[in-house]
Amino acid sequence: AKGAGKNQWRRYQRHLHDEMVERLELRSALDHAVNEGHFLLHYQPIVDLPTGAAVGFEALVRWHHPTRGVITPDQFIEVAEESGLIVPMGRWVLEEALRTVADWRRILAPAPAPYMSVNVSVRQFREPGFVDQVRAALHHTGVPPESLMLEITETLLMKDDEQRVWADLGTLREMGIRIAIDDFGTGYSSLGYLRQRPIDVVKIDKTFIDDIVVSAQPLALVGGIISLARSLQMTIVAEGIEDVAHRDVLLQLGCPLGQGFLFSSPLGPTEVLAWMRASTS
Ligand code: C2E
Ligand code: CA
Ligand code: CA
Ligand code: CA
Repeated sequence: AKGAGKNQWRRYQRHLHDEMVERLELRSALDHAVNEGHFLLHYQPIVDLPTGAAVGFEALVRWHHPTRGVITPDQFIEVAEESGLIVPMGRWVLEEALRTVADWRRILAPAPAPYMSVNVSVRQFREPGFVDQVRAALHHTGVPPESLMLEITETLLMKDDEQRVWADLGTLREMGIRIAIDDFGTGYSSLGYLRQRPIDVVKIDKTFIDDIVVSAQPLALVGGIISLARSLQMTIVAEGIEDVAHRDVLLQLGCPLGQGFLFSSPLGPTEVLAWMRASTS
């Protein structure tokens, strides 16, 4: 029995070691990818629920690995955050997303182009000069600030430098950029937290949307978020809508906007234009 315990311990040690090596390898591959620019963006439509028309798109990063193919962010965002590589990667994401909206504006003119929503990590937001970086990127791509939305997760707002974060968000908003709270409901903030904050959009997390057709509690919660946000002149996006039943409940609750596989999965740069043309004709 003693021998078995020892073997188990060894296996555990080896497992830890493998995991560490894997993380280090991932980190160095990611570092390389950042230097070589091995990323691309996919775009998922944010639709007007009553009509299904796209009002905006969320930019979602993908890693185009030379041998492993396209890798989704759940496999590398955490390491990117920990290592700080999210900062240069995020800078690229913002620039690329704005170049894309600039293209859409040219291609779709004189019709208005949908807006672009970009995820911003805590680390990026804490970099000194982030606000200036956004301003400069808008300036050199020629995109009006009204065409940009920044998505910040609720947890960003829970740290000690909260006041500075809110001040920067206020500045960005005064420039005309819209601010969205991402994954709302997964953190600890209460609904009251939304009051008197420079927020335009509340994105309700998929976990609540999944349960609204089966359970009264999430239904009431989502209903509460929607009515409070409305009374605060904020708009709401329900995330992860996968079927018609969810959409119908959300419509009944008065949710104006939604996103999810029911409408479209995230689309590559060429597919997205085809999707826009097909959905407006
Ligand atoms: P998120 O911001 O909450 O993005 C929504 C995620 O849900 C995306 O996964 C999207 O593909 C997926 N999704 C959309 N509709 C549905 C649906 O109907 N059902 C299901 N099951 N999933 C749906 P993705 O692209 O893998 O991104 C995962 C997360 O990675 C994002 O979650 C975001 O937190 C992060 N992320 C993605 N791109 C960036 C980026 O450029 N910068 C930063 N900082 N984070 C990013
Ligand atoms: Ca998001
Ligand atoms: Ca989200
Ligand atoms: Ca999420």
